[in-house]
Amino acid sequence: MFLIPNLVRLWGYLLHNLRKYLRGWDSGDISGFEEPLKGALGKGTLWEQNEPESGTDNQREKTRVLLEECFIYTNLVPIWVEDGEGMVRISFDDECGSSSLVGRYCQRAPPKSATTNLENISSATRQPSLEEAFIILHECGHIFGFIHEHQAPARPKHFNFIESEVQREFGKDGHRWSREETRKNVTRPHQQKHIENCSQFDRNSIMMYRFPASLTYEGVGTPLNTKLSDIDKAVLTLNYARLEPHLKAPNWTVAYAVDILGIEGELKEKIVSSKDCRDIRAYYTEWSTQQMESLDGKCIVS
Ligand SMILES: [Zn+2]
Repeated sequence: MFLIPNLVRLWGYLLHNLRKYLRGWDSGDISGFEEPLKGALGKGTLWEQNEPESGTDNQREKTRVLLEECFIYTNLVPIWVEDGEGMVRISFDDECGSSSLVGRYCQRAPPKSATTNLENISSATRQPSLEEAFIILHECGHIFGFIHEHQAPARPKHFNFIESEVQREFGKDGHRWSREETRKNVTRPHQQKHIENCSQFDRNSIMMYRFPASLTYEGVGTPLNTKLSDIDKAVLTLNYARLEPHLKAPNWTVAYAVDILGIEGELKEKIVSSKDCRDIRAYYTEWSTQQMESLDGKCIVS
């Protein structure tokens, strides 16, 4: 098990975006035309030869580079495919918002539909901006199974959202989320029973949104995180343990991840001495459960 990497097929966005255009045609939406003349072609609707319907080279390259950075800390190996058959299918639709199904839930999506959408990734640049780095890495985190840090059960007592302020912030342009969407994506904590495992609260996690201080009772904001934090890397390392660290991250051994997370005692010994990635994940989950239970509600925001 340990020595056989799991293969994750990615991309397959072309058919998704093509379907988007086809939906528009299916609906017969011709508003703006005087009347639908036979043989007439709608102004601005014609395809260009070799049009990149599903992401430009720059959008795809920025995504590929950042996503592969995440794989370094895992025993998963990406295989990039172009035919719409990927297990994870990424689209670049600027009208859908950025979002992703979480982990293996990607396999529940309808065939050939996008499992991840990345919005506002510029086609004009080869290097990601800070905002783009956050968007891409954050959605990549969801692909690996991460949920939002600000909704994790280990949210500390000193980080309490002012619901009305959060609703106002996320109801504005940029998100335009409904009250329920805001609760679902921001303020409602996940219950422990829905969590596989959980590290200590990490305000530098890529899974943490940037929040202005005005959104919490305590006046505590969070930064724009544009890289995986050390705790993000450690959590990936223990959930997808490699026998040997990746050549691009030689210090990221299982033992190093254990130290980053502050795991001590018998479970530390079990994790460090294990040669089985499933056992390592299970031991980490056991430690995590102990940690959450030891909080005894003291640090869980309701
Ligand atoms: Zn998210």
